[in-house]
Amino acid sequence: MTIHVRVRAESSPGEKRVAATPDSVKKLIAVGATVDVESGAGLDSLMTDAAYEAAGARIVARDQAFTPGILFHVRPLTAEDAAALPTGTVTVGMLDPFQNMAGVTAARDAGVTSFALDLLPRISRAQSMDVLSSQALLAGYRLVTLAADAFGRMFGMTMTAAGTLAPARILVLGAGVAGLQAIATAKRLGGVVSANDVRAASADEVRSVGGTFIDLDLGTAEAGGGYAKELAEDRVRRQQELLAPHIAASDIVITTAAVPGRAAPRLVTADMVAAMKPGSVLVDLAAESGGNIEGSVPGERRMVPVTGGAVTLIGARDIQSDLAPDASKLYAMNCANFAVLLVKEGELVLDFDDELVSGSAVTHDGAVVNERVAATLEGVRA
Ligand code: NAD
Repeated sequence: MTIHVRVRAESSPGEKRVAATPDSVKKLIAVGATVDVESGAGLDSLMTDAAYEAAGARIVARDQAFTPGILFHVRPLTAEDAAALPTGTVTVGMLDPFQNMAGVTAARDAGVTSFALDLLPRISRAQSMDVLSSQALLAGYRLVTLAADAFGRMFGMTMTAAGTLAPARILVLGAGVAGLQAIATAKRLGGVVSANDVRAASADEVRSVGGTFIDLDLGTAEAGGGYAKELAEDRVRRQQELLAPHIAASDIVITTAAVPGRAAPRLVTADMVAAMKPGSVLVDLAAESGGNIEGSVPGERRMVPVTGGAVTLIGARDIQSDLAPDASKLYAMNCANFAVLLVKEGELVLDFDDELVSGSAVTHDGAVVNERVAATLEGVRA
């Protein structure tokens, strides 16, 4: 039986990405799939219907009935999206299950097998499917270009006959995939970049991309799997106190700190923002998940008064869509590489003995099969 892949045209406002490109379509066709792309799905990522057709896809209307098979999506399925899918549909994309229980339960009730690429175990075999990494990389770059735009001054030290321009001092808090990319990007623009994180490996990682690691002597906080653990309340306060002078001395503060399944750690308080120099800029990648910086609002660029002027505080929202063609290119290949795992000799085979398949499955056969998601759901119900 042929495998059908359907590529959704994203409908969430501001979402410009798409889960397939002409190249990823070719990859899917090569393993025996047919691919339906909803008309206009790639336009915001600069990919036309004609380009998908030339790659072998069929263009279908958005309301055209669904051929049972695999649905590729970018934004997490809403309850409404999931309820409209035929029983037995397999979905591949980001699901944000812990924040999206309505979508999860609707997928379960509709008999949909949903794979959350945002839950894939971060093992080396998963790297080509790792949407968190591919999208965080672009986010890290975009955070710096947003900051540079708001800063309105040069990053690099510049010596001219008319005088010398001092380099910008950039502080990056949270040095995971996005933070490391932000450090590397700010460094390439000539900034003087320092960073802090709570994982043991992060000091070397920061140095490897050209940053100076700020050791706060706080000890590490790791949860296993390379992820950070939430700090106890006294250590949160201690971290804030120790960061305060570094923040006050910075021209730009970029925050990317996250703890999976938790609200973003608060690293910068309103008092710390108020102590910055006029003209400084803060950009908070975590604005949508609670905010690393007090007062950041997702999608907003606010001027916050400080002595002698104001600083700009930017809360990130959907920033990968600002780089949609590149974000889609990587995301689409992540989805296609995962789908290839599900195809054996032209047939759809869900091999739950494969840890990438079992690790990312959220719903299957009318049940929530991910233990952590199921436990969270029970907690919600209790
Ligand atoms: P993430 O988005 O979960 O968090 C971002 C960063 O915030 C992390 O570096 C985390 O340590 C940091 N953080 C959390 N609390 C903090 C605090 N209070 N103060 C300062 N920093 C804080 O992380 P991520 O970017 O998804 O990366 C998570 C891990 O996964 C890293 O160890 C990364 O190297 C690893 N990784 C592995 C692979 C792989 O294929 N093996 C791929 C990608 C990432």
